[in-house]
Amino acid sequence: MSTLFPALVAGSDRPALRFGADALTYDALTAAAGDLAARISDTGAGRVAVWATPTARTAVAVVAALLAGVPAVPLNPRTGARELAHILGDSAPAVVLAGADDELPAGLSALPRVAVDVTARGAAVAETAGPESPALIVYTSGTTGPPKGVVLSRRAIAASLDALADAWAWTADDVLVHALPLFHVHGLVLGVLGPLRRGGPVRHLGTFSVAGVARELGAGGGTMLFGVPTMYHRLADALDGDPALVEALTGARLLVSGSAALPVHDHQRITAATGRTVIERYGMTETLMNTSVRVGSPPRPGSVGLPLRDVELRLVDEDGTRIGAYDGESVGEIQVRGPNLFSGYLNRPEATAAAFDGDWFRTGDMAVREADGGVRIVGRKATDLIKSGGYKIGAGEIENALLDHPGIREAAVTGEPDPDLGERIVAWVVPTDVANPPSAEELAAHVADLLAPHKRPRVVHYMQALPRNDMGKLLKKSLPGAALHG
Ligand code: ATP
Ligand code: MG
Repeated sequence: MSTLFPALVAGSDRPALRFGADALTYDALTAAAGDLAARISDTGAGRVAVWATPTARTAVAVVAALLAGVPAVPLNPRTGARELAHILGDSAPAVVLAGADDELPAGLSALPRVAVDVTARGAAVAETAGPESPALIVYTSGTTGPPKGVVLSRRAIAASLDALADAWAWTADDVLVHALPLFHVHGLVLGVLGPLRRGGPVRHLGTFSVAGVARELGAGGGTMLFGVPTMYHRLADALDGDPALVEALTGARLLVSGSAALPVHDHQRITAATGRTVIERYGMTETLMNTSVRVGSPPRPGSVGLPLRDVELRLVDEDGTRIGAYDGESVGEIQVRGPNLFSGYLNRPEATAAAFDGDWFRTGDMAVREADGGVRIVGRKATDLIKSGGYKIGAGEIENALLDHPGIREAAVTGEPDPDLGERIVAWVVPTDVANPPSAEELAAHVADLLAPHKRPRVVHYMQALPRNDMGKLLKKSLPGAALHG
């Protein structure tokens, strides 16, 4: 791997990026990133922060830092003061890459700014950094605790993107429609570096909207969509009565979901209306991508597919014994190894050591394996595994069952201590019709009928909305009084 971006080296007037009015060809990107890379090198900075707005500036800034061989730390522009201070203190960037008139918060304005100009015309810069050198420091989503800085090498990024290309038949001819934030792996590594590594274009919507997806996908030219489950939920809600959206999704080559579990109900609604399968992939900041459903395979709602090329995956039970059974039932923690793994947590050698069993990374996610080796995630060890009445029950399965009830829009399931059962199952639901929610008894009976009586919720809390982060991930630790364990 000599370069992450062969298409930048080759140069062409093919489109590379489009963010609103900012559209850059590969030649224009080479020129703008070349200019910025030279200015980054001039500062002598050992690490740069990137003010990661959903704009072409962020894409150019990250590419420039990669060309310059200086690790980049993407920052969420909506991060609160405390979290920003945590990330800046931890990662200690020397400068910040931002637009000349981006307003930066107090914590950042003290850093020297290197202004990103997407229209600049500098000379091409060749990548010289080696495969193991740190390329990005990406903070985890903070779903289970304070975000951790994950050091990602060029080797890991290249390996993961190429394995995805393999699984999805992703080529330079694909046009990616993108609406995710650019400070996590999903939006930045897959959504920006992915198309650029393939040599194809990415079009970013700025913010997600159903109308934007309907406009860009299919007849609009877009061939693939990367989204998080909340986006597919909104698309599924809109399909009925929006023939243009149905046509756009039907015309897309690839609809991909990740970052959290895609509810089976939404998957099925999209397939029913469009005939298209949503492809689920599973990854983490620390591992980049681990598994995916393959393009062209039959729909597998609830499954994240097979391990990607060069990724080894095993399930391990609580005593550390490997589960060999592909029976769709035996639950174990997912452990992975392969060229896609991170180099370690920044400044946290103990956390890094604790995250590994030899060279196997402990993901903290629990799953079962299906007969063909496919992986079905049941939830996170820390928040989603409920031990009730002698059973180990995954929250995800119960959430899917609740969402299958027409009276329920959103659902989260947790466990809380129970003198009799050890833990009892608690459901947090947002009803479709707030004035007329299904009763707790009705929901319990619905789950008992669909799954099994011991999986029925014993307590139901009715909510206006569920706490979610900017990727739409459920923040179970923020549920009022939710009992978390692990
Ligand atoms: P933190 O590590 O800070 O608590 P986080 O784990 O949410 O936050 P990320 O690295 O962004 O941070 O997310 C990785 C996690 O997202 C995985 O460990 C898994 O729990 C979840 N995840 C990702 N893709 C899927 C998927 N397709 N299905 C189910 N869960 C998924
Ligand atoms: Mg995590």
